[in-house]
Amino acid sequence: MTVSLYSCRPNALQDWDSPSFSLQLRASRDIKKDEEIFISYIPAGIMDPAPTRQERLEPYRFKCNCQACSNPIVSDERCRKIEEVGVLRRTIEVNGNDMGWVQEQLINPSLECMKLMEEEGLQCEELYRVSLLRLAENYSFLGDTVEETKWRRMYDASCQVQCSARNPMNEATRIKEETERRAQKEVLAKISAKKGQSFVVEL
Ligand SMILES: [Zn+2]
Repeated sequence: MTVSLYSCRPNALQDWDSPSFSLQLRASRDIKKDEEIFISYIPAGIMDPAPTRQERLEPYRFKCNCQACSNPIVSDERCRKIEEVGVLRRTIEVNGNDMGWVQEQLINPSLECMKLMEEEGLQCEELYRVSLLRLAENYSFLGDTVEETKWRRMYDASCQVQCSARNPMNEATRIKEETERRAQKEVLAKISAKKGQSFVVEL
């Protein structure tokens, strides 16, 4: 097994753990026996088009030949679609009476986003974790506790991968998401208490 090669579609995340003063690697998707472990040095830009990624890699002086860089036409187009369906909605109009709207406008785009990210091998990305959280919350709104529990568990597992190292930045991320989760719950509770009215919701 070779550890810590570079890929734009990594199967592991690295993070600094301050109390133990060590670098941690955690698998972001299943890694088969004898499979190499890949990390990314440019985590903020791995969904950018292949030529942009290669420019960022110039200081490291190598040409990336990962699955995405080897097939940029398919990969770049998939990333474009991921950004299209996964974009954060700042303001949405919610009709408290229309459960089909929640399914169509909130749940379906998140499901599509997750599917594309899994096809592309991008489970390491923050958007993947955020999509899991959105699914749990929106199924909660629909009163589907089975689906809510399923996505909540996947979200918690994803937090373990993406935010489990103990450093101030991860702590800040956890607190921010927890606050947003509570705020969204309050908003959704208000909507379901006033069925039949339309609301404009800031998410
Ligand atoms: Zn690459």
